[in-house]
Amino acid sequence: MKLNGTSLNTPPIKEITNLSNFSVDDIGDEHLSTSLDTPLREDAFEMDDELKIELIEKHFREIMHVLGLDLTDDSLKGTPRRVAKMYVQEIFSGLNPANKPKVALFDNKYKYNEMLVEKDITFHSNCEHHFVPIFGKAHVAYISSGKVIGLSKINRIVQFFAKRPQVQERLTVQIANELKEALQTEHVAIVIDAKHMCVSSRGVSDVNSTTVTAHYSGKFQEEATKQEFLKYLQLS
Ligand SMILES: [Zn+2]
Repeated sequence: MKLNGTSLNTPPIKEITNLSNFSVDDIGDEHLSTSLDTPLREDAFEMDDELKIELIEKHFREIMHVLGLDLTDDSLKGTPRRVAKMYVQEIFSGLNPANKPKVALFDNKYKYNEMLVEKDITFHSNCEHHFVPIFGKAHVAYISSGKVIGLSKINRIVQFFAKRPQVQERLTVQIANELKEALQTEHVAIVIDAKHMCVSSRGVSDVNSTTVTAHYSGKFQEEATKQEFLKYLQLS
């Protein structure tokens, strides 16, 4: 998954609020999405996690049953509960704002005014159209506005937004926006290079392609700054 330096500048997700002209299969295969915000209902967190796990367990057991699986088998009988716990506590835990990393800002005491690049942040997410993994690397940079955050927080912000049903373009912009807010700066860049299991293990079954998305704002929209960032990404 090496960057070839020809990353694409992601156009902002168009606010298509209605996909009714597209078939269900088209929406999935073209990975169309409707908004920058993850489409959540207003009552999304009225149920607590324990109740969510209980309900998902019940429904997942039903899915397995419909598929014809024998749920009395020792290997399978715990699967519905395992899947339910994994959904709520792990791979979709980033849906819940309560799990958002708390970010503390520090003064930029070293007066370090160059860009800071945090690269090769490995993440795992899931495609919202197929519920199968998207995984890859995020490369993030910012130029301090006088404040800095702990490096591990950048990683945690990436992981938080990855742990949702996602489309890669939205993941890219959500991370960028959160960094701008957390760091109180407009000067943020992000490149994501990822593999989509829904492309490699089904559908067109392309095992080699990766998808690159990027978002540049503030000084990173200037060509020289952008190129400096992209040059760092090629160092290995
Ligand atoms: Zn997909």
